[in-house]
Amino acid sequence: MKDLRDMWEIGGLIEDQNKDKVADRVNIWCDLNGEIYPEGFIDFCARLGFETASLSFDFLQKNNRYSNQLSFVKDDEDTSVEWKRNHLLVHYQNEEEVSTLLRFLAGSWHRNFITGDTPVQKIKLNENKIIIELQDGGIQVAPVEPLNTAVSEKTYEVGSLTEIWNELGFMHDEKASPTNNHNVIFLTEDSLEHHSWIEIYYGAARIGMESTTLRFPITGINLSNALKFYFKSDESKNANIQLDGNVIQFTGESKSLTNAISYFFRERYWSFGGHFGCWERQFKKSDNQDESLFQVTWEDEGERQELYNKIAEWNSSMKDKKDLDLNIFISESSVIRKDIKKDIVNTFPQARVSVRSAFKPGYFWLTEEVLPNLLEIRKQIGSVIINCLKEERGDGLELPIRWIQELYPVDEVMAQELQIDSSFIDFKLCETLDLDATYEVIVKDLHGHPLYKDHILIPVSKVPYVEEGKYSYPVTACLSVYEGEKQIFQHFFLTDRERFYTFYKEHILSKLWEKADRSSENSGFLRPLFDRIEINVEMSEEELKLPVKEERISSLEALHEDIYFNTLDYFLIKGEQTVGKGYTAPGGIYPIIRVKEGVKPKAEITAYKWLDTTREPVLTEQLLFTNEQRTPAEVKYRVGKEQGLVKEEVSGHVHLEEIPEDLPRPMKAKFHTWIADYSYRHKPIYVYEIFANTKESYYSAIKLTANKPTVLIETGHHANEVSSMPAVAELMDEITEQYSSILKNVNLVIIPRANPDGTELHNRMIADNPEWKHHAARYNAVGLEYSDVRYKDTIFGEGNVVPKIMNRWAPDVVIDNHGVPSHEWTQPFAGYHIPPRFHMSYWIPNSMIYGIARMLNEKRYPGHAVVLDRITHGIQQKVKQSSNIQDMNHYWRERYKKYGNQFMPKLFPIELMEELIFYKWTTETDASSTSAISKFPEWVSADLISEAADETVYGNALEICKEGQKRFNLGAIEWINNDLQEVHRNYDAEGIRVERSRPLKAAVDSN
Ligand SMILES: [Zn+2]
Repeated sequence: MKDLRDMWEIGGLIEDQNKDKVADRVNIWCDLNGEIYPEGFIDFCARLGFETASLSFDFLQKNNRYSNQLSFVKDDEDTSVEWKRNHLLVHYQNEEEVSTLLRFLAGSWHRNFITGDTPVQKIKLNENKIIIELQDGGIQVAPVEPLNTAVSEKTYEVGSLTEIWNELGFMHDEKASPTNNHNVIFLTEDSLEHHSWIEIYYGAARIGMESTTLRFPITGINLSNALKFYFKSDESKNANIQLDGNVIQFTGESKSLTNAISYFFRERYWSFGGHFGCWERQFKKSDNQDESLFQVTWEDEGERQELYNKIAEWNSSMKDKKDLDLNIFISESSVIRKDIKKDIVNTFPQARVSVRSAFKPGYFWLTEEVLPNLLEIRKQIGSVIINCLKEERGDGLELPIRWIQELYPVDEVMAQELQIDSSFIDFKLCETLDLDATYEVIVKDLHGHPLYKDHILIPVSKVPYVEEGKYSYPVTACLSVYEGEKQIFQHFFLTDRERFYTFYKEHILSKLWEKADRSSENSGFLRPLFDRIEINVEMSEEELKLPVKEERISSLEALHEDIYFNTLDYFLIKGEQTVGKGYTAPGGIYPIIRVKEGVKPKAEITAYKWLDTTREPVLTEQLLFTNEQRTPAEVKYRVGKEQGLVKEEVSGHVHLEEIPEDLPRPMKAKFHTWIADYSYRHKPIYVYEIFANTKESYYSAIKLTANKPTVLIETGHHANEVSSMPAVAELMDEITEQYSSILKNVNLVIIPRANPDGTELHNRMIADNPEWKHHAARYNAVGLEYSDVRYKDTIFGEGNVVPKIMNRWAPDVVIDNHGVPSHEWTQPFAGYHIPPRFHMSYWIPNSMIYGIARMLNEKRYPGHAVVLDRITHGIQQKVKQSSNIQDMNHYWRERYKKYGNQFMPKLFPIELMEELIFYKWTTETDASSTSAISKFPEWVSADLISEAADETVYGNALEICKEGQKRFNLGAIEWINNDLQEVHRNYDAEGIRVERSRPLKAAVDSN
């Protein structure tokens, strides 16, 4: 430091070690020689802390980490500070005067306090004047302002000592904000001993660091509405910290008092691994005990048995017939269908028997019956046209293209076998077909001459949907017998899936509704109607992995999805009918389905009761200290506002859960971690924080973000969308190793697994079926979309994580990493297509990765529009650099076009932005919203969602999805340039303020 002008600048008494232009430590050690403990030095330390975003409690002792030194020098004539070769000499005549000078330096002094730029050598207190001595011999005089007694509007109503320091930082308001403004007073008595003073000075520094506006002076006055720290040494052996309205009183005999002060200002909140407030943690546990609502078992003879019974019945009268064709549809795997065929041929050796699949029958017909014929003429094939009947039943949920959908992805499978390009195989949607058929295949040679022709008629049944008046027409089981061309017998019967689904819909859903707990107006919205229903099903069905990407044929995966979503829809409708608003949170729906070849279908269903619990706030009023122990020996608190005071002895140790083994975490990046809350099933939810590394013990999130933009990335919100969690841990390492300059520009806050209960449920489901989508595991343990309970008083801790981060960090950009299915999503009992609640098709992916942005009104928020433009461009650039992802995006887009978009562009939309799909959701501002940009438009600049085709993906597909998520996140971050962001400082009656302009400033696009 050249002179006193730069005292509070980087390079002065504070330093920027990591060169990100944000001060990250003090750079002076202060020699408190034991003779003087000026009150005004509290102000000085508070300012020292205010000017940095991180610090350690080691600057009040000799320390060669720091380049500068402060010494108090007794002087009979002079009260001044003087700068001499890295030495700040504080001359004092008496404590009162030096306090006045120190308060002036802390509260009023800054680089531009005086005009001109001549270096300042010395600042002196002379009666009521401040004499500023310049290096050129000049002098400027400023009056000592009377102590600032202007009443600040800021008031404090402290309910608990742990509101002062907690996971948010220091005394955050309930409402999130990028500012943390304070009006704090320290009241001290002379009798305090050396160590107490040191701890008070450190405390003031930490409060300064945590504030973005701090009112000065902190000492020498008493303001009624300020937050007051009152320190008094008395005779009582044990020391107390007592909360009394807006006053925190520290009293006691010297040693125990020092323990109390030290604990209060040094200790970290328990969720950061500290001791402070650890007695409150137990109250956050909830014992989730089970209470059954009902249990039902179901068994059925099954479709195969019914077929055999029917054949036996029919057989006796038809024994002498010749020239018979037996045509069967049944929902079984090809292995079982072959067995069935064998059994029937044994009975009717004279008959021709075909046993076809009643799930995706068109696909199986083409691959099992048509394809072998085509292989023989493969070299002559010029085109394969598959005419598909348009679905037109008025009361059916099926899309017009339903029969095309049911073929998916047959073009690729056939093309592989025929060794042609899949574009040679095309679908036509036909109003009618000439023959009584559902499909007709026409193969032509290279000259357009017909080579091959065949057709098939598919049997369907009519199954009511959960919404009255709506139906689905799933493929059903059927036995048809022909004698020559003449049908002589036909019997439709239900597939095993229809049997179970019908039972579930008719008997279980109504039972569940009867038993639902609708006692509160929040029931079915912010708390469930039942805890969960576990639906254990065993069935013999097709389970086939296809040689196309992640595609598979799995009729039970489809049943799983039907059970889950149709139950949701059932309650949505029940809510509309009974309370005028669809229930969105009925409870956890756990279809646990096992594919067992050859078994008769059976199920066991158990529903569990919702046991309503609440989390009572814990209000800590007093901490008691002995002189032996530096943590409190006893605490007094209230559980809930109405309750009496509880006394509890506290252990000196606190044990915080280790980061679980299965939680993705970076290997190389240096990060800070804390537990933001516990899930409903009491699993800790961690937050990782990564920013330009500092070596200090304390850092302030709100001060970091006041100086530099912050990006929040949430991963694994929906637990079956699996790629973002491992991706973000890798991204943290990549940023550390390859893109370290990013941390010069942004702070990153990461939720590495937002939904641990969902993940647990997902793990349970993939144990049986490792490749299914498992939408049922997307929400929390009781099936609640927990973003609905954000910013609300809730026992679902998973809903509190984002609000806490919004309050602690006030992020500029919020990214929520999501996913969509990686393969076909079909629900035969909801019209084959995905549930009718979705207004856009997720039946097959439209892209490997795409984006969604919430967009504010461009006219009212033009700055946000610029940011969004930059971000989407940044993401696009980043994604484009990976040819793997580009190829996959292109692949999926073409598939989406071929099967959906070309026929129904509205339901299968494609909104391209420079090659990448980016949907923009128009968003209104709304203080009660749970989305960041809608709730906090003044300071949130962008609110984005990524969608990778990652539902339960594994292996190579998982790797590509991770790459997509990483590039999406990186692209959204990399364009941010800290140099463009304007950080303002202000010095007025409200205090000293540091604030960064919002929304983010973006460079003019150079590309
Ligand atoms: Zn999602």
